[in-house]
Amino acid sequence: MKFLIFSDSEDSAKQVMTFLRGKGDFVLSSTERNESISKYGAQKVLLLEGKPDPKGIASILSDEFSNGGYDYILIASTVLGRDIASLFSGQKSLEVTPEIFDLKFNETTVITKRYGLGGKAVLEEESKSKVFTFLTGISEDVPGDGVSPKETRSIPEGAVKILEIEMKKEKEVNLEKANIIVAVGRGLGKKEGIQQIDPFVKAVKGEFAGSRPVCLDYHWLSEDRQVGYSGRTVKPKVYVALGISGQIQHIAGMRGSKVVVAVNKDKNAPIFQEADYGIVGDLYQVVPKIMSHL
Ligand SMILES: Cc1cc2nc3c(=O)[nH]c(=O)nc-3n(C[C@H](O)[C@H](O)[C@H](O)COP(=O)(O)OP(=O)(O)OC[C@H]3O[C@@H](n4cnc5c(N)ncnc54)[C@H](O)[C@@H]3O)c2cc1C
Repeated sequence: MKFLIFSDSEDSAKQVMTFLRGKGDFVLSSTERNESISKYGAQKVLLLEGKPDPKGIASILSDEFSNGGYDYILIASTVLGRDIASLFSGQKSLEVTPEIFDLKFNETTVITKRYGLGGKAVLEEESKSKVFTFLTGISEDVPGDGVSPKETRSIPEGAVKILEIEMKKEKEVNLEKANIIVAVGRGLGKKEGIQQIDPFVKAVKGEFAGSRPVCLDYHWLSEDRQVGYSGRTVKPKVYVALGISGQIQHIAGMRGSKVVVAVNKDKNAPIFQEADYGIVGDLYQVVPKIMSHL
């Protein structure tokens, strides 16, 4: 079995390679130049140089796929990756199965897993696809042995000319790498609640995160701290949810957490179904009590 991978993100590339290790041979193609991506067991790393024109990248992948004896292509599900997946599959007249997070092989088909119903269900499906976008942010990232050889390819310019690339402001926080996350929801009730909870976040050496209302509607926390379906996907060792009801769009972003602690004053809040430890109570009374035991 041989796989071609594309990822324009270092973290996603590492996760896809870790996932494929032991399933077959794989070649990584990437616009990401960080040396560390060559330590994940790829047969080779194709460094794509030039402006990241999706059509140009899709045509490189299309040639590589035709000539390299590949069985499948996995494209990390980033903004650019999703563009490229549709262009690639159009060029080759192959169907895409999007957003998978697991892949197993039958004799003639593959069994994929992906989330359905807004993250409420896991769909296990038999697929004849050869093209997949891979949902990252929920899988492990473990380096392999050795260092992969590198080749470079120049990205041809497509019909769209990229005049300038302006990098996004540095992310304030790398929630994906955080070991402990303290996430607050609408139950916080007021912006000043952030300062009140801050000593707890510091005491547990955690990172603040929030539900969508907290980050997007009220701006009590910055937007890059939103966890969920339309926010970040995190998998900390401990996820503390304070005043979060646990709607499926939020759960979709934190269900990879190892241990979930929930504080909510409503004993029927759905977050308790996800929680390993649940405390029914007012977060402003519960948090100081936890603090007094730290
Ligand atoms: C397309 C789409 C995408 C979305 N994407 C996301 C996403 O990425 N992330 C996300 O979070 N949401 C997302 N949402 C919104 C989501 O559906 C919910 O509306 C949101 O998660 C609710 O946030 P919450 O739990 O903070 O608020 P609420 O649902 O209002 O819950 C507040 C909770 O706080 C509890 N509470 C109140 N006061 C206290 C107190 N003093 N102490 C303890 N508990 C208290 C209440 O009992 C309640 O359970 C999305 C929605 C849509 C339609």
